[in-house]
Amino acid sequence: MPDMFNTTEKEELGRSTWRLLHTVTARYPNKPTNEEKQALKNWVYLLTRLYPSGECAVEFSKILEANPPDVESRDAASQWACKVHNIINEALGKEQFNCNLVGDRWKCGCANDDEEGAEGEKNKN
Ligand code: FAD
Repeated sequence: MPDMFNTTEKEELGRSTWRLLHTVTARYPNKPTNEEKQALKNWVYLLTRLYPSGECAVEFSKILEANPPDVESRDAASQWACKVHNIINEALGKEQFNCNLVGDRWKCGCANDDEEGAEGEKNKN
């Protein structure tokens, strides 16, 4: 796919996408069902396939081949997202992020941040 984005747009799209990916994994269940595991895997691969910056999509699919999403738990998924983001950071000459801090950085600001994703939402109502 040709790259239609200038540098600023690519950076903004990247920041928004990382925000979404880290927030999704931060809210993913601690003990996901098989259906939830499959859903997260599918979502990551579809996001990569449809990512509108061709250069980023190609890079990320190579990274995914070597580092498939770890969907076994919230912690595993959050650490996986941090790891793949750090691989891109390294390729772009950016600093490594300390993955021990990922839970604090990517709290979504939801009242029930410490509860189980969609389950937490249900329990709130
Ligand atoms: P970003 O890297 O966007 O990070 C946003 C915030 O996330 C940071 O401010 C920090 O608080 C936090 N953060 C940083 N690292 C981590 C981590 N490891 N774990 C958790 N949180 C972290 N750009 C290119 O030029 N070439 C590419 O090939 C390319 N591929 C990309 C592939 C994907 C899937 C995505 C989502 C983006 C890609 N980008 C690429 C964009 C690039 O990664 C950055 O988003 C962009 O350069 C803006 O960088 P930034 O310094 O503002 O922070």
